[in-house]
Amino acid sequence: MVRSEGVCKSFGRLDVLKGIDLEVMPGEVMCVIGPSGSGKSTFLRCINHLEKINAGRLWVNGHLVGYRERGGKLHELRESEVAAQRRDIGMVFQRFNLFPHMTALENVMEAPVQVRRIPRAKAREAAVALLERVGLADKARSYPSQLSGGQQQRVAIARALAMEPALMLFDEPTSALDPELVGEVLEVMKQLAVDGMTMIVVTHEMGFAREVGDSLVFMDGGVVVEKGTPREVLANPRHQRTQDFLSKVL
Ligand code: ADP
Ligand code: MG
Repeated sequence: MVRSEGVCKSFGRLDVLKGIDLEVMPGEVMCVIGPSGSGKSTFLRCINHLEKINAGRLWVNGHLVGYRERGGKLHELRESEVAAQRRDIGMVFQRFNLFPHMTALENVMEAPVQVRRIPRAKAREAAVALLERVGLADKARSYPSQLSGGQQQRVAIARALAMEPALMLFDEPTSALDPELVGEVLEVMKQLAVDGMTMIVVTHEMGFAREVGDSLVFMDGGVVVEKGTPREVLANPRHQRTQDFLSKVL
């Protein structure tokens, strides 16, 4: 579902990603941990077309991200083609950024109606089902300001799912939440994983990584330092940098 080969990204003279090689299989949940500034968000943003890579290759769902390869040469995709690729990917950020002037239901319906041109009645039906799936059937008419952080984040997940993505990216989805609200969001994500969604999750919730993750990646300084099953990486980190980091978060 995702293949990253030698992906590099720099901002000016700052090299943020220095050759990322990773693969995510369909249905796999890959958790990514690492210190602040190690390039985790930048990597997700490259996958989701929010940043352009400087070197390497990135494929999502069989498509080369942002480019077409012809005769050994790369040609940039047109904006409409990029938009089509992005539709395969749902992303949930640390901050929920729901549309504040729309109800939960309207937030979930918005992209299907505006982007996919799905008839309103059909989109509403799907949105109701999605809100039910994240445990918020009774909050359909509430505005974001009337919802807790955990509820808002669950609406954000429903909104991403409304585009029927093949891949979901989560960038520290629970780190802005009060501790007592973290569980309800992780529970929704866990259910999504059980249902077979392919996910990349940047998180420092080690319990989630251990229980739900198929693989665990430790990034530091723009490189993948260590990758394995969560059990391998957490119980037997092979690198000093991984050990140092884990001793701080566990
Ligand atoms: P993480 O998510 O692991 O904390 P980030 O990917 O957000 O790390 O950032 C990695 C590095 O890239 C940081 O040094 C950050 O300041 C820098 N960076 C991220 N985005 C930009 C940008 N748009 N312009 C310049 N520097 C950036
Ligand atoms: Mg980040």
